[in-house]
Amino acid sequence: MPPIEQADIIIIGGGVVGTAIARELARYRLDVVVVERQPDLAMGTSKANSGILHAGFDAHPGTLKGELNARGNELYRTLEKDLDLDIRWIGSMVVAKDEEDRKVLDDLLERGRQNGVPGLEILPPEEVLAREPHLAPDITGALWAPSAGVICPFRATIAFAENAVQ
Ligand SMILES: Cc1cc2nc3c(=O)[nH]c(=O)nc-3n(C[C@H](O)[C@H](O)[C@H](O)COP(=O)(O)OP(=O)(O)OC[C@H]3O[C@@H](n4cnc5c(N)ncnc54)[C@H](O)[C@@H]3O)c2cc1C
Repeated sequence: MPPIEQADIIIIGGGVVGTAIARELARYRLDVVVVERQPDLAMGTSKANSGILHAGFDAHPGTLKGELNARGNELYRTLEKDLDLDIRWIGSMVVAKDEEDRKVLDDLLERGRQNGVPGLEILPPEEVLAREPHLAPDITGALWAPSAGVICPFRATIAFAENAVQ
C-alpha cells in the first residue's frame, strides 16, 4: 500500500461499499487507499444489517435502487464464485396476515416485475403453509422471490478488501 499522500484515490470508509469500490479500482493502474476510523473493516452499518441479498421488488421503479437491485443480486452469483462467498440462495417470502396485507403483495409483485426481478409469484395460503408450517394458519398468501439470498456481511466486506489487495 502506498503512503497516503502518494495515493491516486483515497476511499473514506471500509464498509461493504468502500471495499467493493476498492476492489473495482484495483483492476486499474492506480494506488488506492481505504481509510477506516474504526479498528477493523465492517464495523459501521455493514456489521449490523440483516444479511439479505434482496431480490429487488421493494424499490420503486424509476429510482436508481429499482434499476440496480435485481442486477446487483444477479452479480452476486459471479462474486460468490470469484470471492468464495458462502451465500445461501434460499429465496424470500413476504407473508400477508390479512386482506389489507394481501393487496400490498400485488403492488410488490408489480414493482418487482417492472424492476426485472425473475421468478416472482404470489402463493396461496395453503402453499405457503406447506412450505412454512409454523406460520399462523390464517395468513392470506405470500410473495415468493426465489432469487433472494442470505450472506455474511462481515465475510463479504473482508473478501472485497482482501481481493483488492491481492
Ligand atoms: C438494521 C439494518 C438492516 C439492514 N439490512 C440490510 C440487508 O438485509 N440487506 C442489504 O443489502 N442492506 C441492508 N441494510 C443496509 C446496508 O447495511 C447498508 O446499505 C450498507 O452496510 C452500507 O454500507 P457502507 O459501506 O456504505 O456503510 P458502512 O458499513 O457504515 O461503512 C462506512 C464506514 O465509514 C467509516 N467512516 C465514516 N466516517 C469516516 C471518516 N471520517 N474517516 C474514516 N472512516 C469513516 C465508518 O466507520 C464505517 O466503517 C441494512 C441497514 C440497517 C441499518
